[in-house]
Amino acid sequence: MLSKSKYIRGANCHKSLWLYVHKKEEQAYSEATMAVFGRGINVGAQAQQYFPNGKLAVLEDYPGYASAKRTQEFIAQGVETIYEATFIFDDTLVAVDILHKENGEWRLYEVKSTNNSYPEYIKDVSIQYYVVTGSGLSLADAFLMNFDRYYVRRGAIEVNKLFTADSIKDKVLLLQEEIKNTLPILKRMLEGDEPIVEMGCQCSSPYTCDFTGYCKSLLPTQNEAPEIFSNTPEIKEAEVRKFVSEIQYPIAHLDFETIMPGVPLFDESRPYQQIPFQYSLHLQEYENGPIRHTHYLAECDINVDPRIGLIEQMIEETKEAKTILVYNITFERTRIKEMMRDFPQYAYVLENIIARMADLIIPFRRKYYHTESMGRRYGIKIVLPILCPELSYDELEIGEGMAASNAFQDLYYCTDAETIAKTREHLLAYCHLDTLGMVKIFEILKMV
Ligand code: SF4
Repeated sequence: MLSKSKYIRGANCHKSLWLYVHKKEEQAYSEATMAVFGRGINVGAQAQQYFPNGKLAVLEDYPGYASAKRTQEFIAQGVETIYEATFIFDDTLVAVDILHKENGEWRLYEVKSTNNSYPEYIKDVSIQYYVVTGSGLSLADAFLMNFDRYYVRRGAIEVNKLFTADSIKDKVLLLQEEIKNTLPILKRMLEGDEPIVEMGCQCSSPYTCDFTGYCKSLLPTQNEAPEIFSNTPEIKEAEVRKFVSEIQYPIAHLDFETIMPGVPLFDESRPYQQIPFQYSLHLQEYENGPIRHTHYLAECDINVDPRIGLIEQMIEETKEAKTILVYNITFERTRIKEMMRDFPQYAYVLENIIARMADLIIPFRRKYYHTESMGRRYGIKIVLPILCPELSYDELEIGEGMAASNAFQDLYYCTDAETIAKTREHLLAYCHLDTLGMVKIFEILKMV
């Protein structure tokens, strides 16, 4: 039997569905995909409160014949809100996040843990609509529920404001014929041998396929020697010297880490807003002077907004700096502007921090200092290993921003003291390397 997720998979790539059914052992989820799954489960439970006091159709079998039977029983009993309402039609099974009856008419709600209505979500709702109506239940409307990006938490979460529900019935109706024609094609395909499908844009869009590793392993091995790119820099000396000369001491090298909770955890924050929880700071008062390191890492207490402590410590620790050097200014400047908006009592001092900021990416982005191996990539994870191969992110337990973000967010729900202590150590080591790297990069630029 097909399901919503199998249909979506097969409509995107026949081979992906065939592998999912016949060679599931080749499936490999990325960490990012696993994080999205976890997020989806939490958000679904929140969204159910949009229509409270409903009945859950899915219990021991997820979702299956018993859930479909229970759904029919709830409908017959006059239940007006059913979570995970399950239907079977055309040998296809779907579970609807929320089925709600209003003024005697049923409406279908699909919940997504994003603040965007991506086009691929229309297909999700369309296959549900096809199966539900095909099974005999008339639907007055079909909605996509998303986070309202303009929602600002103030006090307890107001579920009716956190989510928006947009009718997409018109778009869903347009896809009904296509679904009817595609389902038998997918079923026939599944009865045959593994289909031959070339890798292409369907492997990474709308999602990274979880069989990418398998399909890549089937590609013919290239015998050509890999192209070697040179690390020898081409330097525009005058431009580099001018950049360096404009950086005034004392210098504070600053880097933030952030979390992006879908459901806002703190007052004065929005769905998926980036919330700074950590910074690393290397301070040098004068040229060739000693370098002092400090950091901020918020306590993992869900009742304490990490931004307040961060703002106050950052203001104190950067007050002497004439230049606050960051790498790729857009990120840090945007975070500070958001904190000015959310905590206007600090706006004046934070504005002053922005005024003192300079961007260490400029010499690389403008190719004042360039190597072939950089290509068109100028992030610190590219530039630092080229300029300072002795400083490596590879040795670290946490080696990139998304991992840091997930690790910190997980700590809010962790009670094991040893895990908490170790994770905090790894977070400190990661952020420390970012600003130490900036110190080293700036020293190299100064030698030009
Ligand atoms: S990696 Fe690409 S070709 Fe292979 S199954 Fe996935 S989508 Fe299809």
